[in-house]
Amino acid sequence: RWPELAPRGGRSRLVVLAGPTAVGKGTVAGYIRDHHPEIHLSVSATTRAPRPGEVDGEHYFFVDDDEFDRLVHDGELLEHATVHNRHRYGTPRAPIEKALSEGRTVLLEIDLQGARQVRDAEPSATLVFLLPPSWDELVHRLVGRGTEGPEERARRLRTAKVELAAQNEFDFRVVNDDVERAAEEVVALTR
Ligand code: 5GP
Repeated sequence: RWPELAPRGGRSRLVVLAGPTAVGKGTVAGYIRDHHPEIHLSVSATTRAPRPGEVDGEHYFFVDDDEFDRLVHDGELLEHATVHNRHRYGTPRAPIEKALSEGRTVLLEIDLQGARQVRDAEPSATLVFLLPPSWDELVHRLVGRGTEGPEERARRLRTAKVELAAQNEFDFRVVNDDVERAAEEVVALTR
């Protein structure tokens, strides 16, 4: 269904990090960005608005609906999905092909729908599922970060239940009990 990615050198790897809402995927990915510059962290395109402190081209490429349609139409995204029934997100293909062709490890921090698309496109990709220490802890984190209202929280928790049920589709599971420890465990899986 998807065009083949550029052939990989022996050491190049495509690693997908997924997991339920508020499990801390973004924080773990941020730790890896800061401490493991040898790993290429994919920057997604999204139609959602930037949050305070988010930099265009660094955290996301912020695009409007028309531009997102164009990216999809022109086949520039490796995968794309509408997340939490609202905004669209997708992984630009070209930077990934470039990094893989340079022999670098590439990390995608994406949702479950995207992880499944990458697995279909690239069966050899390594899929890592980030788990919360417990369900109660996940609810606690979502409430604690305070970025969503009650309705949006309820929506995300429904999605999280569905996502947690899919963890067996993944190659590895990592528990995010501590950001540094979990991030280093993910990095160790890429070696
Ligand atoms: P947020 O808006 O909080 O940054 O991200 C919301 C969700 O979108 C997270 O679950 C994140 O993993 C997911 N996401 C971010 N980028 C992509 C992408 O390129 N593709 C897909 N499928 N999901 C993404």
